[in-house]
Amino acid sequence: MRKPVIAGNWKMYKLHDEAVNTALELKNQVANATHCEVIIAPVFTALKTVADRTEGSNVNVAAQDCSTHTEHSANTGEVCADMIKDVGASHIIIGHSERRQFYGETDESVNEKTKACLYFGLTAIVCVGESLAERESGNAQTVVKTQLNGALKGLTVSDMERIIIAYEPVWAIGTGKTATPEQAQEMHAFIRGVLAETQSEESAENTRILYGGSVKPANVRELMSENDIDGALVGGASLDATSFAQIVNYK
Ligand code: PEP
Repeated sequence: MRKPVIAGNWKMYKLHDEAVNTALELKNQVANATHCEVIIAPVFTALKTVADRTEGSNVNVAAQDCSTHTEHSANTGEVCADMIKDVGASHIIIGHSERRQFYGETDESVNEKTKACLYFGLTAIVCVGESLAERESGNAQTVVKTQLNGALKGLTVSDMERIIIAYEPVWAIGTGKTATPEQAQEMHAFIRGVLAETQSEESAENTRILYGGSVKPANVRELMSENDIDGALVGGASLDATSFAQIVNYK
């Protein structure tokens, strides 16, 4: 049984106090949600307070990125995964399409960051997804397979226990265009097939694969009814506690 995961990516939104207030509102509104794991990813500057104020609740905290480096070193502007763990976060989002598109993230750096995250015992939410041009040219599966194999290169079956995959078609992120449940299910089943080939049947069966791309209270239930969709990575609709709580409480 794969326990669903509903994760909110707050991107570069919310000053410190706003982030804390939203987290506290959310904590109340999802207090009875035992059917899924709830994760929020505020900006680095709010991580510690949000983690402190949600401690002991069913809200887990993620960072949105980390350094490829695992040694404390002269890398201005970088944040080591153990620093993220140190302030109470349990997960890190890695390889989000905005980082791939605008900040030079490659399959190699995604792989290094994933390993850094695992090295310190955190769970990695590894994002993959094709662009509109790649989908329209019939290359969506090839692109996703390459990203997946690149991100997970060198990982063992036991490492896979701390990997969550997020399938986020770039054309559906922040655009209001959601993949249909059938399109998402098709890619999720494909991803599970790739994991079965490259890892093991068992880890493919156990790995949670989240869908991301304009998930909202109005479409989450339909997406979650698909066999291989194990949760959602939500951007815009996670910024408001009530809207995100409605997504969490999709059942
Ligand atoms: C995201 O940023 O990961 C995302 C899926 O954004 P949105 O829900 O706004 O499309």
